[in-house]
Order: sequence, then structure tokens, then C-alpha cells
Amino acid sequence: MRIDIITALPSLLESPFNDSILKRAIDKKIVTLEIHNLRDYSQNRQKSIDDYAFGGGAGMVLSIEPIYRCIKYLKKKFSYQEVIYMSPDGELLNQSIANQLSLSKNIIILCGHYKGIDERIREHLITKEISIGNFVLSGGELPAAVLCDSIIRLIPGVLNNESSALSDSFQDNLIAPPVYTRPAVFNDWEVPRILTSGNNKAIEEWRHNQSLERTKKRRPNLLK
Ligand code: SAH
Repeated sequence: MRIDIITALPSLLESPFNDSILKRAIDKKIVTLEIHNLRDYSQNRQKSIDDYAFGGGAGMVLSIEPIYRCIKYLKKKFSYQEVIYMSPDGELLNQSIANQLSLSKNIIILCGHYKGIDERIREHLITKEISIGNFVLSGGELPAAVLCDSIIRLIPGVLNNESSALSDSFQDNLIAPPVYTRPAVFNDWEVPRILTSGNNKAIEEWRHNQSLERTKKRRPNLLK
């Protein structure tokens, strides 16, 4: 899979991809990630990428030209399933969207900043808009990293034990059961006996019931 991220602040995206699972996916060449600095696509002398909003009001807007030029350049080299804009008013990210996107070959993710991006980019070039929740952050970089993490961990070969992504919350519309590790007793807090019984079938049943109970309590909507 190839992911191209377009951003005004590339340094904000460095650390999420430099550790752990995302780094491993890149090192193993399961994912090719390229981060594009919008400023490199600005053609004026000051390398500016933003301007005042038409009609006035506080806050700058990311300009149309650098974004247009960057997307055009990328589209000449690759064909993309989606050109995604991270936006608080987009479709709310969930596991099903992550599952779908993890099957893509190439995607572009555009990060906004300030008041957002010139609306004409959204009208003409963006194919999907994704929000990570009903709150406003200062830029699309952290949301883009969240989106990438949710997608990349689902690609076969990225997680060591592949079944572990399948048993996470929201796959099968269920919340994951509680997990424990050694020691079996800490203070007088004991691990549920069944987990140390060695009876795999009973353990599987217990886990499934725990999942159902948790889902009923915490995310009843998933069961509808
Ligand atoms: N004025 C806009 C908010 C701009 S926030 C509004 O009121 O809707 C600046 C940028 O941060 C946005 O362009 C977007 O790319 C990103 N962003 C902020 N919150 C986000 C969220 N919840 N999900 C996804 N992206 C978000």
C-alpha cells in the first residue's frame, strides 16, 4: 500500500511513523509512506501556502495552488483509490472505514490547517472526508496519523500475530474482552480462574460472553 500525506507541517508527522508497528510496516515495505511539504509546491517567492479568507474574519486559509499542484503531481505518477481530506465535519472514522481503506492500493491524505483549506479543493479534488471525532484540533496531522495507524495495523503481515487485529474491539461489532497477564495474583486481586484453567474451549466461551456483556454495557448501538 502507498500512502502520500500532504501537510504544511511535516515535522508533526515524524514520530508516529518512526516507532513500533508503523515503522515496522514501512521497514518491511508493506507500506510506502511519503510525506509532502506543501511549501515545496508553492510558487511564489515567499513560499507562502496560506492567505486571508475572502469576506474577512479571523484565521488564515490554506491556498488552492500548492495543494492543487501537489495532488496533480502525485496523480501523474500513481493512480489513487481515494484523495482524503481530514476534516472535523467529515465522516466519523470507525473500524469499518479503516477496514475498507486498508484494502486500497494508493491513497492521498491531505491535512488542513488554520481555518481549513480553500473549499474548491474539497469540491473538485477530494473524494472522501474523514473526521476523528466531534472536536476541533489545530491541524490534520494528528488525525492523519490516527487514520494511518488504524489502517496500517490491519494490513496482513504488519502485526506479528495476525489474529490479534481480528480480535480487537469493533471487529465483528463487539468490544474486546478484558485481558490479564502474570502475576495471577497481585495484592489480593486475582485473575479470573477460568483463564488459568487450561480449558481452551471454556476460555473462548468466557471471552465471548465478556465481549457481549461489555458491548451491551458500553456500546449497545453495535448490537443493533
Ligand atoms: N475551521 C474548521 C476547523 C479547522 S481546524 C472548522 O470549524 O470546521 C484545522 C484543520 O485541522 C482542519 O482543516 C482539519 O484538517 C484538521 N482537523 C481538526 N479537527 C479535526 C478532526 N476532528 N478530524 C479530522 N481533522 C481535523
